[in-house]
Amino acid sequence: MEHKPTASQNRILSDLAAGRVLLWCAKHRYFGPDRTNHGAPTLNCAGCWKVYYFSQLKDVPPDQIAERIAELESVVRHVVEAIADGSWDFKPYDHPKIVVEPGNA
Ligand SMILES: [Zn+2]
Repeated sequence: MEHKPTASQNRILSDLAAGRVLLWCAKHRYFGPDRTNHGAPTLNCAGCWKVYYFSQLKDVPPDQIAERIAELESVVRHVVEAIADGSWDFKPYDHPKIVVEPGNA
């Protein structure tokens, strides 16, 4: 399934890439992977991970965003499969919060 960013997500990505806005998790003061002096995203915090993924996508050309999202989905799917078959000893939270929002592009 292909997920294209919504119009508002595209606007956020464009503003982030141009440096017109700064996105951060106010709860944990996480500013994204480009700003390493501000630490790592807090596990199980939707705000931190939203900052992380928007930061990952802000420099991707618009015509390649859907492909990059598909790659990120593939990584997450392989991680889940590795955990399920026991080939990776990562310990997930007992009650993860996972939200999938389909795009409306
Ligand atoms: Zn956070």
